[in-house]
Amino acid sequence: MIPAAFDYHAPRSVADAIKLLGQLGPEAKLLAGGHSLLPMMKLRFAQPAHLVDLGRIAELRGISQVGNEIRIGAMTTEHELLSSKLLAEKAPLLVEGAGWIADPQVRYKGTIGGDISHGDPANDHPALMIALDASFVLTGPKGERVVKADGYFLGLYSTQLAADEILTQIRIPVPAAGSGWSYQKLKRKTGDFATAATAVMLQMKGKSVAKAAIGLTNAGPTVLKAREAEAYLAGKEINDASLNEAARLAMKICNPTPDQRGDADYKRAMCGEMTRRALQAAHARAKA
Ligand SMILES: Cc1cc2nc3c(=O)[nH]c(=O)nc-3n(C[C@H](O)[C@H](O)[C@H](O)COP(=O)(O)OP(=O)(O)OC[C@H]3O[C@@H](n4cnc5c(N)ncnc54)[C@H](O)[C@@H]3O)c2cc1C
Repeated sequence: MIPAAFDYHAPRSVADAIKLLGQLGPEAKLLAGGHSLLPMMKLRFAQPAHLVDLGRIAELRGISQVGNEIRIGAMTTEHELLSSKLLAEKAPLLVEGAGWIADPQVRYKGTIGGDISHGDPANDHPALMIALDASFVLTGPKGERVVKADGYFLGLYSTQLAADEILTQIRIPVPAAGSGWSYQKLKRKTGDFATAATAVMLQMKGKSVAKAAIGLTNAGPTVLKAREAEAYLAGKEINDASLNEAARLAMKICNPTPDQRGDADYKRAMCGEMTRRALQAAHARAKA
């Protein structure tokens, strides 16, 4: 399929991109890696009159640490996340998660900002962001605002991002030393989206859980934070009984959409299993 005709714009700065969004209005769409937007345009689900390509804006790329925070430019690609020594050392959950996304071709062009902005519950970054307690910098004509990942995702393809704003940066507090992490994803084949997946960050105090953060992928119309499971685990040891209860509490909030990957009951059960495995793996990696 060939997309409908559009005009192409390639600003060199965030300020110019925002100015363009203001001038062009709701008919304009931002273009990042294009791996979600272009398929939608080819299927004519999206027919923007203007594409504003963020690809030439150098200030939107890169990974750095500022104080106790990791800052990632929205146009940083999955491949760059996978190659980052800083992330491997300080936020390995993100590296593990990026490795589960699509295939190398998609990962060379697909960006973390595009994956988050698309608002697709099947995308992997939203659950990783929830588990990592990330915040997003949204830049618009009135300046910057910083919003938490928890609460940012409103529904299917719907986020807090306004039409005249750009997601410019992702901020992640450096996880406490000794934290365990895991992203467990069930998919049918390489390049497929998750049947179910769970992201976990785990802090231990002695034998007990000090803090658990759990994000669920493709378990409902948007990414889910498994709050009851997180609260239940606080102060508990990780054993068969607590893993089963945490998995049950995660399954309780699942409302997956049936599709070729399975019916709702199967997907809910797989969400429980991914949660159990992610907690187990994070526990094995955590140092009290
Ligand atoms: C074969 C295939 C398999 C895939 N498998 C997976 C998978 O397993 N897991 C997964 O998570 N994803 C998967 N994807 C999706 C892929 O990760 C996309 O790259 C990603 O969803 C979108 O990122 P992008 O940079 O390509 O954004 P684009 O496609 O360019 O944009 C997506 C949307 O976000 C908006 N947008 C982009 N950047 C910004 C920004 N900085 N600020 C505001 N809005 C912005 C665009 O306007 C558009 O609406 C797959 C894609 C393909 C083609």
